[in-house]
Amino acid sequence: MPTSHNPKDHILPTLSCPQCGSKKIKKKGKRHTRYEDRQRYGCNKCGHTFIREVTKHARYPVKLIMESLSFYNLGYSARQTVSYLKRRFGIKVPEKTFRHWYTAHTPISTYHQLRSHIKGV
Ligand SMILES: [Zn+2]
Repeated sequence: MPTSHNPKDHILPTLSCPQCGSKKIKKKGKRHTRYEDRQRYGCNKCGHTFIREVTKHARYPVKLIMESLSFYNLGYSARQTVSYLKRRFGIKVPEKTFRHWYTAHTPISTYHQLRSHIKGV
């Protein structure tokens, strides 16, 4: 079997149509949600469109991440912060994940330095 690919067709090799099994799939635009990007695909053969979720490394709502950082910056420990998130959002966040956010959002953590100025917030 020849393994050459046709550059003229934008065929995505890992995808096949759930309807007819054709590999002639084209991208049809993206839709952003709070949790992930949803890439829409269309089948060139039968015209069936379908969605494949592209899960990003951040699987949590941005609001949750922002609140966790603000909460932590109030002076709570990482452990207290994740237990706050559990109560507030009903989502269990591993401490490790939270620490990752904290280091990933270093510009926000400059807020930490402001903390001494804004007392009683
Ligand atoms: Zn199809």
